[in-house]
Amino acid sequence: MNYASAVRIIRMPCTGRIDPLFILKAFEIGADGIMISGCHPGDCHYTAGNYHARRRFLLFRNLLDFCGIDLRRLRFYWISAAEGAKWVNAVNEMVETIKKLGPFRELHDADGGEILLPQEVSSIAHEISIRSGKSMPDHSSSIQESLHKIGRELLQKEEVSLIIGYGKGSLYGRTTPLMIRRPEEIDRLVFDSFCFNNLATYLIQAKKEGQISGKVAVVAKGCDIKAIVGLIQEGQIQREELIILGIICHGVFSAEGKDNLAEKCLSCQDQIPKLYDHLIGEAREMSGERMDQFLKVKQFEALSQQERWKFWKAHFKRCIRCYACRAVCPLCYCNRCIANKTQPAWVASSSHFRGNFTWNIIRALHLAGRCIGCGECERACPMDIPLDLLNLKLAKEIKELFDYVPGYDWEASPPLTIFREEDEGEFIG
Ligand code: SF4
Ligand code: SF4
Repeated sequence: MNYASAVRIIRMPCTGRIDPLFILKAFEIGADGIMISGCHPGDCHYTAGNYHARRRFLLFRNLLDFCGIDLRRLRFYWISAAEGAKWVNAVNEMVETIKKLGPFRELHDADGGEILLPQEVSSIAHEISIRSGKSMPDHSSSIQESLHKIGRELLQKEEVSLIIGYGKGSLYGRTTPLMIRRPEEIDRLVFDSFCFNNLATYLIQAKKEGQISGKVAVVAKGCDIKAIVGLIQEGQIQREELIILGIICHGVFSAEGKDNLAEKCLSCQDQIPKLYDHLIGEAREMSGERMDQFLKVKQFEALSQQERWKFWKAHFKRCIRCYACRAVCPLCYCNRCIANKTQPAWVASSSHFRGNFTWNIIRALHLAGRCIGCGECERACPMDIPLDLLNLKLAKEIKELFDYVPGYDWEASPPLTIFREEDEGEFIG
C-alpha cells in the first residue's frame, strides 16, 4: 500500500481506548490534522469499544465545533483490516485537506482572540440582565424557622450527626457553608436569596475527609439535589446515609449583581425539589418569564466558526489554571485529577493558551452527561470565563442526541457508559 508519507501512525488497541485527551494533546504538540480509524460497528474485537467511542467522539467533535475548531482537521473513519484501498484513499484525502488548510497556527499563536464578546452574545447577556431585574427572588422567613425546627429535632433525636447548611457570611450578600453538629447551634442556619452555593460539594468533601459518621442532613435547593442524585448514581454516597432538607426555591441572586436573579434560575424547572426527606417552603408561581435553557447556546451556535474561535481563544487565554472551577464542582471528586498528573503530563500545568484550551475542553467533557447546571464553576471562576456556555452546549447535545437529562434518576445509566446501535454515526467516513 502506498499512501502519503506525512502521517505518523499511533497504534491503539481499540477506538474505545482513544480518549479525547489524546487528540487534544496531539494538537497541542503540533499535529495539524488528526485521523481516527477503527473497526466497523459490530466488528469490535472487544465487543463494543467502537460503539462507546462513537458517542464520545460525537460529543467531542460537536464541542470542538462549538469552540470554532475547523472540523476538517479531525476526521473519523471505520476501516477494517481488509479495506486497504479505503485506508489509502482516506489518508491521501486527509493529507490533501490538511495541506490546503496549512499548519494549525490558530492554536499555537498566542495572539488573536477578541476580549469583547461577539455582539450577539453580549446582547443575550443584556437581555438576561433585564429579565432578571423583573423577577427578584423572595424567600419567606418561615423557611428558616422550619429549618431550625426540623434540624433541631434531627440532632436532638440523634437521627443525624451533622447538618450541612448555610450560615451568614461576613459580607453583605454572602452566605457561607456551615456544618452544625449540636442542637444549640441550629439558629446559625440561614436560608435566603444569597444561598447560591451548591452544598453537595461540601457533602462529598466532608465524606472524603472522614467528617461524617452516621447520617448527615443537607440543605438543598432543587438544583443542588440534582448533584446529590448524580453522586448517588456514581456510588459516591448512599441514599440511606442522607436526610435531604429540600427547599422550595424561588431563585437566588447572582453572586456579582446583588440585584439580579442568577442566570440558572431563569430557566429553572426544579423550584420544587423532586427528591427530599423534608420539603420546606411554600410553592407559588415564580414571577417573571421562564427562559429557554439553551437560548444562549443556540445564539452562540449561530455565530460563524471564526467568531466562535475568537471568542473562546480570548477567554481560554485568560485562564490562570487556579482550578477553582474544579474545586467548587460537586461532581469533580477524583482524588487525583488528570490535570495534576505529571507522568505523563496530559494537561500542561503552566498557564498558556494551548494547555488552557486542553484543560477547559477536557473539564467540560469530563462533566458531559453528569453536569447538572448548578453554575458554580462559572461563578467561582476569577477570570469570568463563561464555563456555563460550554456546559450548556454539552447538556443540549446530550439531551438531543441521547435523550438524557442528568440529576433525576440515580438508577439510570449515564449516557457515556452505554450506547445504542442506532446512535448517530454520519460523521464517520
Ligand atoms: S476557575 Fe477559571 S481561571 Fe481557574 S482554572 Fe477554571 S477556568 Fe481557569
Ligand atoms: S460543571 Fe459547573 S455547572 Fe456543572 S455541576 Fe460542576 S460546578 Fe455545576
